[in-house]
Amino acid sequence: YVLPGQPGVSPLQAFDQSLPAFIDGRDGRTLTRAGLRDAALRLAGGLKALGLKRGDVAGLWGFNSLEWVNAAYGCLAAGVVVSPANYAYAPAEVAHQLNDSGASLVFVDPALLSNFEASRQHLKRPLSPSRVILLCTVNHKPKGTPYKCLPEILAAPVEPEHFDGTACNETAWMSYSSGTTGLPKGVMTTHYNFTSQLQAANTSYHLDSGPNGDVVLGFLPMSHIYGLTVSLLQPLTFGAPVIVLPRYDEIPVLEAIQKYKVTHGLLVPPLILKFLYSPNTSKYDISSMRTIMSGGAPLSPELAAAFEKKFPGCVSIQGYGMTETTPGITAMNRTDVLGGDRQGWVGYLLPTYQARLVRADGTDAPRGQPGEMWVRSPSVMKGYHNNPKATADTMALGGWFKTGDVLIRDDKGWYKVVDRVKELIKYKGFQVAPAELEALLLTHPKLVDAGVVGVYDEAQVTEMPRAYVVAADGIAAAEHAALAKEVQAWVAARVAQHKKLRGGVLIVEAIPKSPSGKILRKDLRKRAQAEYEGKPAAR
Ligand code: ATP
Ligand code: MG
Repeated sequence: YVLPGQPGVSPLQAFDQSLPAFIDGRDGRTLTRAGLRDAALRLAGGLKALGLKRGDVAGLWGFNSLEWVNAAYGCLAAGVVVSPANYAYAPAEVAHQLNDSGASLVFVDPALLSNFEASRQHLKRPLSPSRVILLCTVNHKPKGTPYKCLPEILAAPVEPEHFDGTACNETAWMSYSSGTTGLPKGVMTTHYNFTSQLQAANTSYHLDSGPNGDVVLGFLPMSHIYGLTVSLLQPLTFGAPVIVLPRYDEIPVLEAIQKYKVTHGLLVPPLILKFLYSPNTSKYDISSMRTIMSGGAPLSPELAAAFEKKFPGCVSIQGYGMTETTPGITAMNRTDVLGGDRQGWVGYLLPTYQARLVRADGTDAPRGQPGEMWVRSPSVMKGYHNNPKATADTMALGGWFKTGDVLIRDDKGWYKVVDRVKELIKYKGFQVAPAELEALLLTHPKLVDAGVVGVYDEAQVTEMPRAYVVAADGIAAAEHAALAKEVQAWVAARVAQHKKLRGGVLIVEAIPKSPSGKILRKDLRKRAQAEYEGKPAAR
């Protein structure tokens, strides 16, 4: 799965090796399938020459780029565990990951170099300059740097380590979870986790190769398991090229869609929102788009419907998963949803998964009723790195992995995500899913974004839902107080008694979100509680 074209081993050899695998969306530089294989094996040779051995860990910190792709595949070929870090991390955060993962070499994007230097003071194990490799071409190497850039360490190609079949259960990759519910956790993903996931996911998800085939948009951070699977690994297995962009920047993304006739967009809900409201989308020809896939956070049926209405011919599909499950648990194909009313649902179980929906009392929820999803699959991680307690906490008897998410299953076997167990707001005896209130708020004509959290009210001894919302352009600050009141009443008229926004409504500039598209509810909750205690909102 890693190195297309390995004769007799890879199912990928059927593809023409001169097909483009990854194209730099800014300057058009191309890595063909053969070129990628060669570059990966030469980097594996270079890593060996630097003294790295199978099982050693390399940190990988950068925006998406051809060098990032080369580093990832080179490490996989050398049996070196990749630990990719979020480009948005502050110096102390990246140092935490380098320390926790035990990285003995790090690839760094020159754009993050000053942050990397600042992180060095927090490193428990110093890295010598020869163990810091810059993710850029020789031409783009910053002047006066003591570090080599990736092409400078390429050496004679070596045979990939894991084709001897003994590496299946060795850790191949160590992504960190998003840190939505606590500190990010290092997730040990094995080669077998990847191969079983790719085989399973490819039974529902499909891309076409060839002249009129699919072209994939690759700006989601590949350091996150979602971007990794859907843009680094999966398109290669279908022979479809990926247009690599460093991150989401609206104009370069629109330009790339137009120039490369992109057919397949991998998105997260906040970006679908941006696409929907941006005045720029109509200035570019993006009619080549056939499918968008959303994952990582809830996509409401209303938002999916509004998107498909604005961009006819483009179908929205969803997948659901998590870092610990490599990541897909459920998925769907565009042909499953064409003409259907499956908006808001996350698809059906991938064939290598078994699932239960378990209620608080440990019994299985009846069909159509919510329960925490527990899964078993060869794609479930080996465990959390350096954290046996967290690993034990997520595993139930019988090898079931507890996802921490509440879902519903219908008669046809389709699933819908209600919310995270930990995010559910407990108002008196009732449970309120913030995602449901956020979806409703997004349908209000004067609002463009929303985040809901619970605030604790000491006097009433209960949590209450409180909404932070972003007003549409053109609504003056002076109108905000009236709008907040209006929204509170508008919601109250549309939901059950216990779901009313009793904790108040506040108009803000933006909802805090992670690059992988999640509302940072931890931050929002802290803010909400501080503001709530200081100034109780009207009930
Ligand atoms: P942490 O585990 O560190 O608290 P995290 O759970 O956000 O962070 P990820 O592994 O990036 O880290 O995200 C997985 C979570 O994202 C899932 O458990 C689920 O809550 C949410 N999620 C993923 N896909 C969807 C989806 N399609 N709809 C709703 N929620 C989703
Ligand atoms: Mg999680």
